[in-house]
Amino acid sequence: MFSFDNSYARLPQSFHRPARPAAARAPGLIRFNHALAEELGLDLEGADEARLAQVFGGQVIPVGAEPLAQAYAGHQFGHFNPQLGDGRALLLGEVIDRAGRRRDIQLKGSGPTAFSRNGDGMAALGPVLREYIVSEAFAALGVPATRALAAVSTGERVVRETMLPGAVFTRVAASHVRVGTFQFFAAQGDEQAVQTLADHVIDRHYPEARETENPYLAMLTQVAERQARLIARWLSIGFIHGVMNTDNMAISGETIDFGPCAFLDEYDPRKVFSSIDQRGRYAYANQPGIGQWNIARLAECLLPLLDADEEKAIEAANGVLKAFGDVFQEAWLELFKSKLGLTGEDPDDRLLITDLLELMHLGEADFTLTFRILSKVAGGAAVKTFTDLFTVPPPGLSDWLTRWRARIDDDRTAAERQTAMEAVNPALIARNHRIEEAIAAAVYGDFSFFHRLVEALANPYVEDPDIADLRVPPTPDERVTRTFCGT
Ligand code: AMP
Ligand code: MG
Repeated sequence: MFSFDNSYARLPQSFHRPARPAAARAPGLIRFNHALAEELGLDLEGADEARLAQVFGGQVIPVGAEPLAQAYAGHQFGHFNPQLGDGRALLLGEVIDRAGRRRDIQLKGSGPTAFSRNGDGMAALGPVLREYIVSEAFAALGVPATRALAAVSTGERVVRETMLPGAVFTRVAASHVRVGTFQFFAAQGDEQAVQTLADHVIDRHYPEARETENPYLAMLTQVAERQARLIARWLSIGFIHGVMNTDNMAISGETIDFGPCAFLDEYDPRKVFSSIDQRGRYAYANQPGIGQWNIARLAECLLPLLDADEEKAIEAANGVLKAFGDVFQEAWLELFKSKLGLTGEDPDDRLLITDLLELMHLGEADFTLTFRILSKVAGGAAVKTFTDLFTVPPPGLSDWLTRWRARIDDDRTAAERQTAMEAVNPALIARNHRIEEAIAAAVYGDFSFFHRLVEALANPYVEDPDIADLRVPPTPDERVTRTFCGT
């Protein structure tokens, strides 16, 4: 089924432990991503649903797989834990996809490993469906993220606060190397392993770095840039990751670990959903600062590789951290300018954007709909459709609209402006209450709404009348105020 080529398994023994999936009584295929399987070049000849459930439920180890749990450490909510690792996941192996890119195939929720500590290594159905929905929503939005290849129910029960159905999720990633993977070796003072890992990462993700004078500095710089751009993308779609621990930050620049994540409904920069984020460390607007903090932790691990002279190494690392801030600011401005339909340059653009965000906050306006409907106003729709999004239209809203109208007045037609804005402002996001609704039905064996939601989210920029219900913000009764890690 797979043509595996397992470069991570060839790294030294300290990088991983062998792992075996647990037995599952009755694996059943929930969903399989045929388009992604095609992209990966999988050979599905003769693979019926039962066979897919066996393989992606961990009951049949495909030929060429070398299942292993990866070692890593990490800062969790600012506190360093030297020993985390794949406690409920295993890497089956790597394939080279049709575009020539190396991709990891990982099972999540497939049973305990050497790194499970007190955990059971299992995943409940809810978190598996959530990760499936949000990863594929990200793919359709064009935001870098790990992908969903399969979801399989195990027929086993997992014990959380209540008994829940178990499931296995198959995740595809450019790699699963995290900031925490570097920290694992750096914390042990194993500089050789840090270098081996950095070389692996350069070969895999940043081959151009090899051609520069200081490849490790070039690698760090590029990781920082990708993360800065990624977090700007998150903010542009109203996304809150929820658990930006250093073990949940991928070196590839892909969004990873859709645990307690959530999309904003009404705009609030301090918004937090995760039940365990009591101090709001990972609030919406804190994400760029946390991203930079995580990159600082990565830079610390790499110091001995950056320069033999420690002071020079620190200076280089500080340069990267500053660049992170600059790249983020620039990417954020570009993204929000296009969301507002602003072309060219104007020194007041940043203020025009932040003023709108402040009005949205005051008026509790829905993040996604504000930009979508503003696109229509740019195309000639009535202003009332926009002002109606605010619970109480805040003073200053009509002044803001006047400023905005003057600013977007370029040589495009109104229709052209609307088309350009609608192409960057999604009509549909994976709203929390819809995800919860899909999970609630699935726990009772009805997967129809889950499938409908996944299919709808494949086209976030078009307004299909058949899915109008999925675009609507929650009613007060439907609002989700808390999300959970699902561990
Ligand atoms: P997370 O923040 O969800 O990515 O998980 C943090 C750490 O906890 C990782 O090392 C996971 O492998 C581990 N973990 C989470 N859930 C479980 C579980 N059910 N069993 C074992 N380990 C787990
Ligand atoms: Mg994690």
